[in-house]
Amino acid sequence: MIYSCEEHVDIALDDIVDKYETYPVLSQIPVDKAAASCEYCEKQAVYMVANK
Ligand SMILES: [Zn+2]
Repeated sequence: MIYSCEEHVDIALDDIVDKYETYPVLSQIPVDKAAASCEYCEKQAVYMVANK
């Protein structure tokens, strides 16, 4: 599972496909529950990309 900001969500999706060779599942993190930071920068994560 990868946490990502708005800007890096495309990279996160690609990474899941590359690493797990499976279809990525994108979900938005509720603003009030956002605690994680982006995997690729210092911003607060907005999306969560999981491998199913
Ligand atoms: Zn980012």
